[in-house]
Amino acid sequence: MLEKMEILDVEKLIGDFEVMTKDAENVQRETLKMILEENGCAEYLQNMGLNGRTDPESFKACVPLVTHKDLEPYIQRVADGAFSPILTGKPITTISLSSGTTQGKPKFVPFNNELMETTLQIYHTSFAFRNREFPIENGKALQFIYSSKHSKTKGGLFAGTATTNVFRNPQFKKAMTAMQSECCSPDEVIVGPDFHQSLYCHLLCGLIFHEEIQLVSSTFAHSIVLAFRTFEQVWEELCDDIREGVLTSRITFPSVRSAMAKLLKPNPELAALIEKKCSRLSNWYGLIPELFPNVKYIYGIMTGSMEPYLKKLRHYAADVPLISADYGSSEGWIGANINPSLPPESTTYAVLPNIGYFEFIPLKENVEGHMQENGNVSFLSTEPKPVGLTEVKVGEEYEVIITSFAGLYRYRLGDVVKVMGFHNSTPELKFVCRRNLMLTINIDKNTEKDLQLAVEEAAKLIAEEKREVIDFSSNVDVSADPGHYVIFWEISGEVSDEVLKECCNCLDRSFVDAGYVSSRKVNAIGPLELRVVWKGTFHKILDHYLRLGAVVSQFKTPRYVGPTNNKVLQILCDNVAKNYFSTAF
Ligand code: AMP
Repeated sequence: MLEKMEILDVEKLIGDFEVMTKDAENVQRETLKMILEENGCAEYLQNMGLNGRTDPESFKACVPLVTHKDLEPYIQRVADGAFSPILTGKPITTISLSSGTTQGKPKFVPFNNELMETTLQIYHTSFAFRNREFPIENGKALQFIYSSKHSKTKGGLFAGTATTNVFRNPQFKKAMTAMQSECCSPDEVIVGPDFHQSLYCHLLCGLIFHEEIQLVSSTFAHSIVLAFRTFEQVWEELCDDIREGVLTSRITFPSVRSAMAKLLKPNPELAALIEKKCSRLSNWYGLIPELFPNVKYIYGIMTGSMEPYLKKLRHYAADVPLISADYGSSEGWIGANINPSLPPESTTYAVLPNIGYFEFIPLKENVEGHMQENGNVSFLSTEPKPVGLTEVKVGEEYEVIITSFAGLYRYRLGDVVKVMGFHNSTPELKFVCRRNLMLTINIDKNTEKDLQLAVEEAAKLIAEEKREVIDFSSNVDVSADPGHYVIFWEISGEVSDEVLKECCNCLDRSFVDAGYVSSRKVNAIGPLELRVVWKGTFHKILDHYLRLGAVVSQFKTPRYVGPTNNKVLQILCDNVAKNYFSTAF
């Protein structure tokens, strides 16, 4: 069906979505039935005693909630080339490696055609809503996308990151054409073996096609910011290439060079124009619309751990709208952004009821129940009682459980979402954070979101000096008693010791969690430490993950570096330029 779809019928897509979401409960029932019928012969489901039943009640009674760790042995057997059906009825031929920055190491999850179909469905749905409000004309997209190195598993299955598996699928290109969002860079650049070289070439292609560029995008906002920070460094070299029509010698891969040679012709007028545009900008404000006069919007995931990059992105974007892309994971998709005119801070994701079977563990109830038990909160030790997609309540927070077409059954994704409302009968979710608590020493509990808010607050102090936090991470140091929080900052330029001391105090005061504040007051947690790292440190962390096989398009800076993540902790600690201890308490 998708193969025939050359230009998308936006109104029909919206109509189909409306019909489906009006009947979300039944669609969920039917979707579960399809998943269980297609995969009922798989060993995993055979062992659950469903005996052909496909209704939600039997499913919940027979199949346990699981984490990745529980499924790992099954997935490993699939990756090792087991002949019999293990998790899915049809054999799995591809494995996705999650970005690896979530848990500190890459993890395997199955990928199949059904997952590709749901990817396209979610792309098309959000495009339909987006294009209604921000129509794009036939042109090109400057997409900072990278398809990582791929490998074969022991059993001969193709293994790549989820984005690689999507970008390399022939359906992806067709979908981009149908959405008038064809990438301006040749395939050789997207699949190029070196990310730095591909990034340079993406920028160059963007400049060559500068008048045609309708949108600038990437999977995550981080890569867009990284691209334009790089532009600030290499713009003169890019102009040289355009002027002479000769690609810089720093691009060494023959396939990339020859693909670029076909596009690059001497164009002194364009080089002069770009030089003029760059020189009249003040601190690169409004760089994106200056370079790409017809750009309609900037698109990429901008919620959750991407929020800290919004400030810089807005700086580059000036008044070009920022639209957050959809919500999903290597394990499967969840929701589409169908309200594209909302700013990223308010973006919600409407769940597509036919792309998987969804359950939600209410967090409030479980936390309260457990608090009564022992006065302490431990998310993971509570007994979860999930509710169905249409049973969630507005204003409540939940952990997401996925049952997918790709062999995951009642899988705890580890994300926390908040229900903001309903679109017909399907919920609209706001992404809150990863569920695993990060900063905790004793009775204190601070999440990624708490850290982000504290950093935002303290960063205001350096904003007065026209400086910004380029990136940040954290750790708890329990090597001495009492333990304390350590926050790592990379800053753009010099900031005085007095201001940084004040930032450190501000960070300490900004963790308002009652457990933290009371522990700080009695020194059960020591003074917070701010460690300022040298410029380029977070780039070293990115490079480290790239060496491990991650891709830039899926990269998320680890906001908390646990004790097992030795290498990253070492990079951070080896690059500390200055440190400060809080005197806030
Ligand atoms: P990956 O392991 O690379 O597949 O990353 C998937 C994770 O990225 C999800 O479980 C979320 O934690 C995060 N993520 C994906 N989409 C979004 C989004 N739209 N907003 C916030 N976080 C997201």
